[in-house]
Amino acid sequence: MKVCEIFASIQGESSFAGYPCVFVRLTGCNLRCSYCDTAYAYNEGTDIELSEILEKVKPYGIKLIEVTGGEPLLQKESYGLIERLLEEGFQVLLETNGSISVENVDQRVSVILDIKTPSSSMSNRMFMKNLDLVSKKDDVKFVLGSREDYEWVKDVMEKHGFSERTNILLSPVFGSLDPAMLARWMVKDGIQARLNLQLHRYIFGSNRRGV
Ligand code: SF4
Repeated sequence: MKVCEIFASIQGESSFAGYPCVFVRLTGCNLRCSYCDTAYAYNEGTDIELSEILEKVKPYGIKLIEVTGGEPLLQKESYGLIERLLEEGFQVLLETNGSISVENVDQRVSVILDIKTPSSSMSNRMFMKNLDLVSKKDDVKFVLGSREDYEWVKDVMEKHGFSERTNILLSPVFGSLDPAMLARWMVKDGIQARLNLQLHRYIFGSNRRGV
């Protein structure tokens, strides 16, 4: 399978934020979000056997692994990778861009399901039935760039009624939407969601991969 990069850092964008985590970033993405900060993952990468990936992740000595992208589910081998990581005793997170069904993802995985808001220009590409599949072990993550996005999120939450079943994270686009402003909107509305900052960026800066 084609792997863009493997590195260890602090998990920054989910309910697991703050934990040391090994990231396996797979190459390729079917979306083109306006704020994309990982465009290098569209094409950059090397073909690596599954066994080699395991050899690379094990020496970190970290039990939490995130399979991400790009869009990791574009490569059918990602399912085998996830299964193997679970067999090896890793706790596995899968961050997916919301455009592909997560129905066949192993139930032991915590899915971080991105739902793209209007300012990404990709909200019409979302596979919304995924919202029926998530549970408390998963996160639904909205990245917001504007007040319009916030109103859209509230509408989606109301229409799809998944607030009680899963964790909902609202993440402001770094450098675009003031987190303090988003926090005020959330408090005013008493919204059933958690403010999520891109922790790794606040610690290490915008462009750094790993620590
Ligand atoms: S889904 Fe992720 S990798 Fe793909 S374009 Fe959007 S932000 Fe970039």
